[in-house]
Amino acid sequence: MSLDGGKLTSIDHNGDRVYIIPAEVRGFFRRHRDWSQILLLVIFLVLPWTKINEHQTVLLDIPNREFALFGILLRAHDAPLLFFVLGMLALGLAFATSIWGRIWCGWACPQTVFIDAVYRRIEMWVEGNYIQRRKLRDNPLTPKAFLTKSIKWFLFVLVSSLIAHSFIAYFVGASNLLAMMGHPPSENWSYFGLVVFFTAITLFDFAWFREQFCVIMCPYGRIQSVLLDHSSMAVVYDSARGEPRKGISTNDKKTGDCVNCNRCVQVCPTGIDIRNGLQMDCIACTSCIDACDEIMSKVNKPQGLIAYNTLDGSKLTLKKPRAILYMLAIFGLFFGLAYALSTRSSIHATLLRAPGLPYSFVKDEQNINKILNHFKLHIQNQGGQPSEYTIFLSPESLSKNIQLIVAQNPIRLEAGAAQEWHFFLRFDENILSAGSLKIQLGIYDLKDPKIETEFKEITLIGPKNP
Ligand code: SF4
Ligand code: SF4
Repeated sequence: MSLDGGKLTSIDHNGDRVYIIPAEVRGFFRRHRDWSQILLLVIFLVLPWTKINEHQTVLLDIPNREFALFGILLRAHDAPLLFFVLGMLALGLAFATSIWGRIWCGWACPQTVFIDAVYRRIEMWVEGNYIQRRKLRDNPLTPKAFLTKSIKWFLFVLVSSLIAHSFIAYFVGASNLLAMMGHPPSENWSYFGLVVFFTAITLFDFAWFREQFCVIMCPYGRIQSVLLDHSSMAVVYDSARGEPRKGISTNDKKTGDCVNCNRCVQVCPTGIDIRNGLQMDCIACTSCIDACDEIMSKVNKPQGLIAYNTLDGSKLTLKKPRAILYMLAIFGLFFGLAYALSTRSSIHATLLRAPGLPYSFVKDEQNINKILNHFKLHIQNQGGQPSEYTIFLSPESLSKNIQLIVAQNPIRLEAGAAQEWHFFLRFDENILSAGSLKIQLGIYDLKDPKIETEFKEITLIGPKNP
Protein backbone atom coordinates (compact mmCIF):
# COMPACT_ATOMS: atom_id res chain seq x y z
CA MET A 1 0.00 0.00 0.00
CA SER A 2 1.34 3.41 -0.84
CA LEU A 3 2.18 5.46 2.11
CA ASP A 4 2.32 9.16 2.57
CA GLY A 5 2.89 9.61 6.24
CA GLY A 6 1.21 6.24 6.81
CA LYS A 7 -1.98 6.90 4.85
CA LEU A 8 -3.51 6.27 1.46
CA THR A 9 -2.72 8.97 -1.10
CA SER A 10 -6.42 9.27 -1.96
CA ILE A 11 -7.37 10.12 1.64
CA ASP A 12 -6.25 13.33 3.41
CA HIS A 13 -5.23 13.83 7.05
CA ASN A 14 -8.87 14.36 8.05
CA GLY A 15 -9.89 11.12 6.38
CA ASP A 16 -11.60 12.96 3.49
CA ARG A 17 -11.35 11.84 -0.11
CA VAL A 18 -8.57 13.40 -2.17
CA TYR A 19 -9.93 13.49 -5.69
CA ILE A 20 -6.85 12.60 -7.74
CA ILE A 21 -6.69 14.21 -11.18
CA PRO A 22 -3.76 12.64 -13.02
CA ALA A 23 -1.92 14.72 -15.61
CA GLU A 24 -2.25 13.73 -19.25
CA VAL A 25 0.67 11.86 -20.73
CA ARG A 26 1.94 10.97 -24.19
CA GLY A 27 4.29 8.24 -25.28
CA PHE A 28 4.78 4.66 -26.44
CA PHE A 29 2.66 2.95 -23.78
CA ARG A 30 -0.12 5.57 -23.89
CA ARG A 31 -0.49 5.07 -27.65
CA HIS A 32 -0.73 1.31 -27.31
CA ARG A 33 -3.13 1.55 -24.39
CA ASP A 34 -5.39 3.83 -26.45
CA TRP A 35 -5.68 1.21 -29.19
CA SER A 36 -6.13 -1.72 -26.84
CA GLN A 37 -8.77 0.20 -24.86
CA ILE A 38 -10.79 0.96 -28.01
CA LEU A 39 -10.66 -2.73 -28.94
CA LEU A 40 -11.69 -3.84 -25.43
CA LEU A 41 -14.51 -1.30 -25.26
CA VAL A 42 -15.90 -2.66 -28.50
CA ILE A 43 -15.64 -6.23 -27.14
CA PHE A 44 -17.25 -5.40 -23.75
CA LEU A 45 -20.12 -3.43 -25.26
CA VAL A 46 -20.79 -5.30 -28.50
CA LEU A 47 -20.31 -8.92 -27.40
CA PRO A 48 -23.79 -9.35 -25.86
CA TRP A 49 -25.40 -8.07 -29.06
CA THR A 50 -23.72 -10.68 -31.28
CA LYS A 51 -24.63 -14.32 -31.95
CA ILE A 52 -22.76 -17.55 -32.70
CA ASN A 53 -24.75 -20.63 -33.78
CA GLU A 54 -27.98 -18.67 -33.27
CA HIS A 55 -27.14 -18.14 -29.57
CA GLN A 56 -26.00 -14.94 -27.94
CA THR A 57 -22.17 -15.08 -27.92
CA VAL A 58 -22.01 -14.78 -24.13
CA LEU A 59 -25.23 -15.22 -22.15
CA LEU A 60 -25.53 -15.93 -18.43
CA ASP A 61 -29.30 -16.25 -18.10
CA ILE A 62 -29.51 -17.20 -14.42
CA PRO A 63 -33.35 -17.10 -14.00
CA ASN A 64 -33.78 -19.54 -16.90
CA ARG A 65 -30.59 -21.45 -16.00
CA GLU A 66 -29.26 -21.16 -19.53
CA PHE A 67 -25.69 -20.22 -20.40
CA ALA A 68 -24.24 -19.61 -23.86
CA LEU A 69 -20.49 -19.37 -24.35
CA PHE A 70 -19.19 -18.77 -27.88
CA GLY A 71 -21.72 -21.03 -29.59
CA ILE A 72 -21.96 -23.68 -26.87
CA LEU A 73 -25.27 -23.80 -25.02
CA LEU A 74 -25.10 -24.99 -21.42
CA ARG A 75 -27.98 -25.62 -19.04
CA ALA A 76 -28.29 -25.85 -15.26
CA HIS A 77 -27.15 -29.48 -15.10
CA ASP A 78 -24.04 -28.50 -17.08
CA ALA A 79 -22.94 -26.30 -14.17
CA PRO A 80 -19.95 -28.60 -13.46
CA LEU A 81 -18.58 -27.59 -16.90
CA LEU A 82 -18.39 -24.03 -15.63
CA PHE A 83 -15.88 -25.31 -13.09
CA PHE A 84 -13.45 -25.96 -15.98
CA VAL A 85 -14.13 -22.57 -17.58
CA LEU A 86 -13.80 -20.59 -14.35
CA GLY A 87 -10.75 -22.64 -13.32
CA MET A 88 -9.03 -21.82 -16.62
CA LEU A 89 -9.84 -18.11 -16.27
CA ALA A 90 -8.54 -17.96 -12.68
CA LEU A 91 -5.38 -19.92 -13.46
CA GLY A 92 -4.86 -17.93 -16.69
CA LEU A 93 -4.92 -14.74 -14.65
CA ALA A 94 -2.53 -16.20 -12.08
CA PHE A 95 -0.20 -17.33 -14.90
CA ALA A 96 -0.25 -13.91 -16.59
CA THR A 97 0.41 -12.20 -13.24
CA SER A 98 3.34 -14.46 -12.41
CA ILE A 99 4.99 -13.47 -15.72
CA TRP A 100 3.77 -9.98 -16.64
CA GLY A 101 2.66 -8.67 -13.24
CA ARG A 102 -0.49 -6.56 -13.06
CA ILE A 103 -0.94 -6.39 -16.83
CA TRP A 104 -4.64 -7.20 -16.35
CA CYS A 105 -5.16 -4.20 -14.04
CA GLY A 106 -3.46 -1.60 -16.20
CA TRP A 107 -4.49 -2.86 -19.61
CA ALA A 108 -7.58 -5.07 -19.64
CA CYS A 109 -9.67 -4.70 -16.48
CA PRO A 110 -13.05 -3.11 -17.32
CA GLN A 111 -12.58 -0.85 -14.28
CA THR A 112 -9.42 0.72 -15.76
CA VAL A 113 -10.61 0.65 -19.36
CA PHE A 114 -13.92 2.42 -18.70
CA ILE A 115 -12.45 5.00 -16.31
CA ASP A 116 -9.48 5.78 -18.54
CA ALA A 117 -11.02 5.55 -22.00
CA VAL A 118 -14.52 6.87 -21.31
CA TYR A 119 -15.05 8.77 -18.06
CA ARG A 120 -11.70 10.57 -17.85
CA ARG A 121 -11.94 11.50 -21.52
CA ILE A 122 -15.42 12.98 -21.06
CA GLU A 123 -14.04 14.90 -18.08
CA MET A 124 -11.22 16.22 -20.25
CA TRP A 125 -13.51 17.27 -23.10
CA VAL A 126 -15.90 19.10 -20.80
CA GLU A 127 -13.60 20.54 -18.12
CA GLY A 128 -10.27 20.87 -19.92
CA ASN A 129 -6.78 19.61 -19.17
CA TYR A 130 -5.61 18.48 -15.74
CA ILE A 131 -4.57 22.00 -14.67
CA GLN A 132 -8.02 23.41 -15.50
CA ARG A 133 -9.70 20.41 -13.84
CA ARG A 134 -7.65 20.79 -10.67
CA LYS A 135 -8.61 24.49 -10.52
CA LEU A 136 -12.25 23.54 -10.92
CA ARG A 137 -11.85 20.98 -8.11
CA ASP A 138 -10.11 23.40 -5.72
CA ASN A 139 -11.83 26.75 -6.41
CA PRO A 140 -15.24 27.82 -5.05
CA LEU A 141 -18.23 26.78 -7.13
CA THR A 142 -19.23 29.60 -9.52
CA PRO A 143 -22.33 29.45 -11.78
CA LYS A 144 -20.03 28.69 -14.75
CA ALA A 145 -18.28 25.90 -12.84
CA PHE A 146 -21.67 24.54 -11.79
CA LEU A 147 -22.83 24.46 -15.42
CA THR A 148 -19.61 22.72 -16.55
CA LYS A 149 -19.90 20.09 -13.83
CA SER A 150 -23.59 19.57 -14.59
CA ILE A 151 -22.83 18.87 -18.26
CA LYS A 152 -20.11 16.42 -17.24
CA TRP A 153 -22.41 14.55 -14.83
CA PHE A 154 -25.23 14.50 -17.37
CA LEU A 155 -22.87 12.78 -19.84
CA PHE A 156 -21.67 10.43 -17.08
CA VAL A 157 -25.28 9.38 -16.37
CA LEU A 158 -25.86 8.82 -20.08
CA VAL A 159 -22.83 6.56 -20.63
CA SER A 160 -23.45 4.75 -17.32
CA SER A 161 -26.94 3.92 -18.53
CA LEU A 162 -25.56 2.61 -21.84
CA ILE A 163 -22.95 0.49 -20.05
CA ALA A 164 -25.59 -0.84 -17.62
CA HIS A 165 -27.83 -1.87 -20.54
CA SER A 166 -24.97 -3.74 -22.22
CA PHE A 167 -24.00 -5.35 -18.92
CA ILE A 168 -27.55 -6.53 -18.21
CA ALA A 169 -27.81 -7.90 -21.76
CA TYR A 170 -25.22 -10.49 -20.69
CA PHE A 171 -27.72 -11.77 -18.12
CA VAL A 172 -31.19 -11.33 -19.60
CA GLY A 173 -30.31 -11.69 -23.28
CA ALA A 174 -29.99 -8.81 -25.74
CA SER A 175 -33.21 -9.68 -27.62
CA ASN A 176 -35.20 -9.83 -24.34
CA LEU A 177 -33.73 -6.52 -23.25
CA LEU A 178 -34.63 -4.87 -26.57
CA ALA A 179 -38.17 -6.24 -26.31
CA MET A 180 -38.49 -4.89 -22.75
CA MET A 181 -37.13 -1.50 -23.82
CA GLY A 182 -40.00 -1.27 -26.29
CA HIS A 183 -42.52 -1.38 -23.42
CA PRO A 184 -43.20 0.96 -20.51
CA PRO A 185 -41.19 0.26 -17.30
CA SER A 186 -44.44 -0.62 -15.50
CA GLU A 187 -44.53 -3.88 -17.50
CA ASN A 188 -41.08 -4.94 -16.28
CA TRP A 189 -40.50 -3.26 -12.96
CA SER A 190 -37.89 -5.76 -11.78
CA TYR A 191 -35.68 -5.39 -14.88
CA PHE A 192 -36.20 -1.65 -14.98
CA GLY A 193 -35.08 -1.52 -11.33
CA LEU A 194 -32.03 -3.64 -12.23
CA VAL A 195 -31.02 -1.22 -15.02
CA VAL A 196 -31.41 1.76 -12.68
CA PHE A 197 -29.43 -0.05 -9.98
CA PHE A 198 -26.54 -0.92 -12.32
CA THR A 199 -26.56 2.59 -13.80
CA ALA A 200 -26.17 3.95 -10.27
CA ILE A 201 -23.40 1.45 -9.40
CA THR A 202 -21.55 2.20 -12.66
CA LEU A 203 -21.89 5.93 -12.09
CA PHE A 204 -20.67 5.65 -8.50
CA ASP A 205 -17.72 3.44 -9.34
CA PHE A 206 -16.43 4.73 -12.68
CA ALA A 207 -17.37 8.40 -12.29
CA TRP A 208 -16.67 9.01 -8.61
CA PHE A 209 -14.97 6.14 -6.77
CA ARG A 210 -12.50 5.41 -9.60
CA GLU A 211 -9.11 3.82 -8.82
CA GLN A 212 -10.00 3.72 -5.13
CA PHE A 213 -11.76 0.47 -6.00
CA CYS A 214 -8.42 -1.00 -7.20
CA VAL A 215 -6.61 0.21 -4.10
CA ILE A 216 -9.19 -0.53 -1.40
CA MET A 217 -11.67 -3.13 -2.63
CA CYS A 218 -10.37 -5.29 -5.47
CA PRO A 219 -9.59 -8.82 -4.18
CA TYR A 220 -7.21 -9.46 -7.09
CA GLY A 221 -5.21 -6.38 -6.13
CA ARG A 222 -4.98 -7.68 -2.55
CA ILE A 223 -3.35 -10.99 -3.52
CA GLN A 224 -0.61 -9.57 -5.74
CA SER A 225 2.13 -10.33 -3.26
CA VAL A 226 1.48 -14.08 -3.48
CA LEU A 227 1.16 -14.13 -7.28
CA LEU A 228 4.37 -12.23 -8.04
CA ASP A 229 7.92 -13.45 -7.59
CA HIS A 230 11.33 -11.86 -8.08
CA SER A 231 11.32 -12.60 -11.83
CA SER A 232 7.80 -11.21 -12.49
CA MET A 233 7.49 -8.00 -14.46
CA ALA A 234 6.34 -4.74 -12.90
CA VAL A 235 6.70 -1.02 -13.35
CA VAL A 236 10.04 -0.38 -11.63
CA TYR A 237 12.16 2.64 -10.93
CA ASP A 238 15.90 2.13 -11.41
CA SER A 239 17.02 3.59 -8.09
CA ALA A 240 20.69 2.69 -8.69
CA ARG A 241 20.64 4.99 -11.71
CA GLY A 242 18.20 7.62 -10.46
CA GLU A 243 19.42 8.19 -6.89
CA PRO A 244 20.41 10.40 -5.26
CA ARG A 245 17.85 12.47 -7.11
CA LYS A 246 18.42 16.14 -7.89
CA GLY A 247 17.83 18.45 -4.93
CA ILE A 248 18.69 15.82 -2.33
CA SER A 249 21.99 16.90 -0.81
CA THR A 250 24.79 14.36 -0.75
CA ASN A 251 28.30 14.62 0.54
CA ASP A 252 30.07 14.29 -2.81
CA LYS A 253 27.41 16.47 -4.57
CA LYS A 254 26.94 13.84 -7.30
CA THR A 255 23.34 13.23 -8.32
CA GLY A 256 21.65 10.41 -10.18
CA ASP A 257 19.52 10.73 -13.34
CA CYS A 258 16.26 11.57 -11.56
CA VAL A 259 15.76 15.32 -11.88
CA ASN A 260 13.07 15.18 -9.21
CA CYS A 261 10.50 16.81 -11.48
CA ASN A 262 7.67 14.84 -9.87
CA ARG A 263 6.11 14.27 -13.26
CA CYS A 264 5.81 10.51 -12.57
CA VAL A 265 3.69 11.30 -9.50
CA GLN A 266 1.56 13.85 -11.36
CA VAL A 267 0.47 11.34 -13.99
CA CYS A 268 -0.24 8.48 -11.57
CA PRO A 269 -3.99 7.72 -11.29
CA THR A 270 -3.52 6.29 -7.79
CA GLY A 271 -1.31 9.20 -6.74
CA ILE A 272 1.73 7.18 -5.70
CA ASP A 273 5.43 7.79 -6.13
CA ILE A 274 6.89 4.76 -7.89
CA ARG A 275 10.34 5.83 -6.70
CA ASN A 276 9.36 4.45 -3.29
CA GLY A 277 9.50 0.94 -4.78
CA LEU A 278 6.86 -1.64 -5.74
CA GLN A 279 3.54 -0.82 -4.11
CA MET A 280 0.19 -2.56 -4.01
CA ASP A 281 -1.45 0.65 -5.26
CA CYS A 282 0.44 0.47 -8.55
CA ILE A 283 -1.98 -0.81 -11.19
CA ALA A 284 0.76 -1.01 -13.83
CA CYS A 285 -0.89 1.59 -16.05
CA THR A 286 2.62 2.54 -17.33
CA SER A 287 1.81 6.28 -17.37
CA CYS A 288 4.85 7.06 -15.20
CA ILE A 289 7.09 5.28 -17.73
CA ASP A 290 5.92 7.53 -20.56
CA ALA A 291 6.14 10.59 -18.32
CA CYS A 292 9.69 9.86 -17.22
CA ASP A 293 10.84 8.91 -20.73
CA GLU A 294 9.64 12.30 -21.94
CA ILE A 295 11.64 14.04 -19.20
CA MET A 296 14.73 11.93 -19.87
CA SER A 297 14.59 12.89 -23.57
CA LYS A 298 14.37 16.56 -22.59
CA VAL A 299 17.45 16.36 -20.31
CA ASN A 300 19.37 14.25 -22.86
CA LYS A 301 19.57 11.15 -20.73
CA PRO A 302 18.69 7.61 -21.81
CA GLN A 303 15.06 6.60 -21.42
CA GLY A 304 14.05 3.76 -19.12
CA LEU A 305 14.70 5.26 -15.67
CA ILE A 306 11.21 3.94 -14.95
CA ALA A 307 10.57 0.83 -17.02
CA TYR A 308 8.43 -2.24 -17.37
CA ASN A 309 10.95 -4.77 -16.20
CA THR A 310 11.43 -7.89 -14.09
CA LEU A 311 11.68 -7.09 -10.40
CA ASP A 312 15.21 -8.48 -10.08
CA GLY A 313 16.37 -7.20 -13.49
CA SER A 314 16.71 -10.74 -14.87
CA LYS A 315 15.61 -11.81 -18.37
CA LEU A 316 11.89 -12.48 -18.77
CA THR A 317 11.26 -16.21 -18.70
CA LEU A 318 8.30 -18.57 -18.80
CA LYS A 319 10.50 -21.40 -17.51
CA LYS A 320 9.90 -21.08 -13.82
CA PRO A 321 8.18 -23.65 -11.60
CA ARG A 322 5.02 -21.70 -10.78
CA ALA A 323 4.44 -20.69 -14.43
CA ILE A 324 4.95 -24.30 -15.57
CA LEU A 325 2.55 -25.57 -12.89
CA TYR A 326 -0.09 -23.02 -13.89
CA MET A 327 0.28 -24.02 -17.55
CA LEU A 328 -0.03 -27.72 -16.77
CA ALA A 329 -3.14 -27.07 -14.68
CA ILE A 330 -4.66 -24.94 -17.48
CA PHE A 331 -3.97 -27.67 -20.06
CA GLY A 332 -5.48 -30.25 -17.68
CA LEU A 333 -8.66 -28.18 -17.31
CA PHE A 334 -8.80 -27.52 -21.05
CA PHE A 335 -8.66 -31.22 -21.89
CA GLY A 336 -11.16 -31.95 -19.11
CA LEU A 337 -13.55 -29.40 -20.63
CA ALA A 338 -13.04 -30.74 -24.16
CA TYR A 339 -13.71 -34.30 -22.97
CA ALA A 340 -16.80 -33.28 -20.97
CA LEU A 341 -18.21 -31.38 -23.97
CA SER A 342 -17.52 -34.17 -26.45
CA THR A 343 -19.24 -36.79 -24.26
CA ARG A 344 -22.15 -34.54 -23.33
CA SER A 345 -25.54 -35.80 -24.58
CA SER A 346 -28.17 -33.43 -25.93
CA ILE A 347 -30.83 -35.51 -24.14
CA HIS A 348 -31.22 -35.21 -20.43
CA ALA A 349 -33.67 -37.85 -19.22
CA THR A 350 -34.63 -38.96 -15.73
CA LEU A 351 -36.81 -42.03 -15.36
CA LEU A 352 -39.09 -42.36 -12.33
CA ARG A 353 -41.85 -44.72 -11.27
CA ALA A 354 -45.12 -42.77 -11.29
CA PRO A 355 -46.60 -42.13 -7.83
CA GLY A 356 -49.48 -44.33 -6.66
CA LEU A 357 -49.78 -48.09 -6.87
CA PRO A 358 -46.49 -49.83 -7.81
CA TYR A 359 -48.43 -52.13 -10.16
CA SER A 360 -52.00 -53.00 -11.04
CA PHE A 361 -53.86 -55.94 -12.60
CA VAL A 362 -55.46 -55.33 -16.00
CA LYS A 363 -56.81 -57.33 -18.90
CA ASP A 364 -55.55 -56.94 -22.45
CA GLU A 365 -57.60 -56.81 -25.68
CA GLN A 366 -57.96 -60.63 -25.59
CA ASN A 367 -59.20 -60.48 -21.98
CA ILE A 368 -55.97 -62.06 -20.68
CA ASN A 369 -54.71 -61.01 -17.22
CA LYS A 370 -51.71 -58.72 -17.30
CA ILE A 371 -49.65 -56.55 -14.94
CA LEU A 372 -49.40 -52.82 -15.56
CA ASN A 373 -46.55 -50.58 -14.38
CA HIS A 374 -46.75 -46.79 -14.70
CA PHE A 375 -43.58 -44.68 -15.31
CA LYS A 376 -42.75 -41.08 -16.05
CA LEU A 377 -39.78 -39.85 -17.97
CA HIS A 378 -38.62 -36.28 -17.36
CA ILE A 379 -36.94 -35.38 -20.62
CA GLN A 380 -35.17 -32.18 -21.60
CA ASN A 381 -33.74 -31.13 -24.93
CA GLN A 382 -30.43 -29.61 -23.89
CA GLY A 383 -29.25 -29.18 -27.47
CA GLY A 384 -29.52 -25.95 -29.41
CA GLN A 385 -32.16 -27.12 -31.97
CA PRO A 386 -35.72 -28.52 -31.74
CA SER A 387 -35.71 -32.31 -31.46
CA GLU A 388 -38.13 -35.20 -31.79
CA TYR A 389 -37.70 -38.00 -29.28
CA THR A 390 -39.02 -41.51 -29.38
CA ILE A 391 -38.95 -44.27 -26.74
CA PHE A 392 -38.87 -47.98 -27.53
CA LEU A 393 -38.28 -51.38 -25.97
CA SER A 394 -35.38 -53.63 -26.82
CA PRO A 395 -36.07 -56.71 -29.06
CA GLU A 396 -35.42 -58.88 -25.99
CA SER A 397 -38.25 -57.16 -24.10
CA LEU A 398 -40.55 -57.42 -27.12
CA SER A 399 -39.83 -61.15 -27.33
CA LYS A 400 -41.17 -61.41 -23.77
CA ASN A 401 -44.36 -59.83 -25.03
CA ILE A 402 -43.89 -56.63 -22.97
CA GLN A 403 -46.02 -53.86 -24.43
CA LEU A 404 -45.27 -50.17 -24.32
CA ILE A 405 -48.41 -48.05 -23.98
CA VAL A 406 -47.91 -44.33 -24.48
CA ALA A 407 -50.33 -41.60 -25.55
CA GLN A 408 -47.84 -39.77 -27.76
CA ASN A 409 -44.66 -41.18 -29.25
CA PRO A 410 -42.56 -39.44 -30.58
CA ILE A 411 -42.71 -36.05 -28.88
CA ARG A 412 -41.26 -32.80 -30.15
CA LEU A 413 -39.30 -30.54 -27.82
CA GLU A 414 -38.00 -27.07 -28.61
CA ALA A 415 -34.38 -26.27 -27.70
CA GLY A 416 -34.13 -26.15 -23.92
CA ALA A 417 -37.73 -27.32 -23.39
CA ALA A 418 -38.56 -30.12 -20.92
CA GLN A 419 -41.58 -32.39 -20.53
CA GLU A 420 -42.84 -35.17 -18.28
CA TRP A 421 -43.65 -38.12 -20.48
CA HIS A 422 -45.96 -40.73 -18.94
CA PHE A 423 -46.03 -44.29 -20.26
CA PHE A 424 -47.16 -47.77 -19.18
CA LEU A 425 -45.63 -51.22 -19.56
CA ARG A 426 -48.03 -54.17 -19.78
CA PHE A 427 -46.71 -57.69 -19.36
CA ASP A 428 -47.45 -61.25 -18.31
CA GLU A 429 -47.04 -62.00 -14.66
CA ASN A 430 -44.99 -65.14 -15.41
CA ILE A 431 -42.01 -63.24 -16.90
CA LEU A 432 -41.14 -61.88 -13.45
CA SER A 433 -38.61 -63.59 -11.31
CA ALA A 434 -39.18 -63.08 -7.56
CA GLY A 435 -41.60 -60.30 -8.43
CA SER A 436 -39.34 -58.22 -10.65
CA LEU A 437 -37.55 -58.02 -13.98
CA LYS A 438 -34.99 -55.54 -15.28
CA ILE A 439 -35.36 -54.38 -18.90
CA GLN A 440 -33.97 -51.54 -21.04
CA LEU A 441 -35.88 -48.55 -22.42
CA GLY A 442 -34.26 -46.81 -25.39
CA ILE A 443 -34.55 -43.04 -26.00
CA TYR A 444 -33.67 -41.84 -29.46
CA ASP A 445 -33.47 -38.43 -31.17
CA LEU A 446 -35.17 -38.79 -34.58
CA LYS A 447 -33.85 -35.39 -35.75
CA ASP A 448 -30.23 -36.18 -35.06
CA PRO A 449 -29.26 -39.80 -35.83
CA LYS A 450 -25.64 -38.95 -34.93
CA ILE A 451 -26.64 -38.83 -31.27
CA GLU A 452 -26.32 -42.23 -29.67
CA THR A 453 -29.42 -43.91 -28.30
CA GLU A 454 -29.64 -43.51 -24.55
CA PHE A 455 -30.77 -46.54 -22.57
CA LYS A 456 -32.46 -46.45 -19.19
CA GLU A 457 -32.85 -49.46 -16.99
CA ILE A 458 -36.41 -50.14 -15.85
CA THR A 459 -37.44 -52.58 -13.13
CA LEU A 460 -40.82 -54.16 -13.80
CA ILE A 461 -42.54 -55.23 -10.63
CA GLY A 462 -45.53 -57.39 -9.80
CA PRO A 463 -46.66 -59.87 -7.12
CA LYS A 464 -43.72 -61.77 -5.56
CA ASN A 465 -45.27 -65.22 -5.75
CA PRO A 466 -47.07 -65.60 -9.06
S1 SF4 B 1 3.07 4.03 -10.33
FE1 SF4 B 1 3.14 4.29 -12.52
S2 SF4 B 1 2.35 2.39 -13.35
FE2 SF4 B 1 1.85 2.43 -11.19
S3 SF4 B 1 -0.23 3.23 -11.15
FE3 SF4 B 1 1.16 4.97 -10.87
S4 SF4 B 1 1.50 5.75 -12.93
FE4 SF4 B 1 0.60 3.74 -13.16
S1 SF4 C 1 9.56 11.56 -13.88
FE1 SF4 C 1 11.57 10.56 -13.83
S2 SF4 C 1 12.94 12.26 -13.48
FE2 SF4 C 1 10.95 13.04 -12.93
S3 SF4 C 1 10.77 12.63 -10.76
FE3 SF4 C 1 9.92 10.86 -11.79
S4 SF4 C 1 11.63 9.43 -11.92
FE4 SF4 C 1 12.51 11.42 -11.49
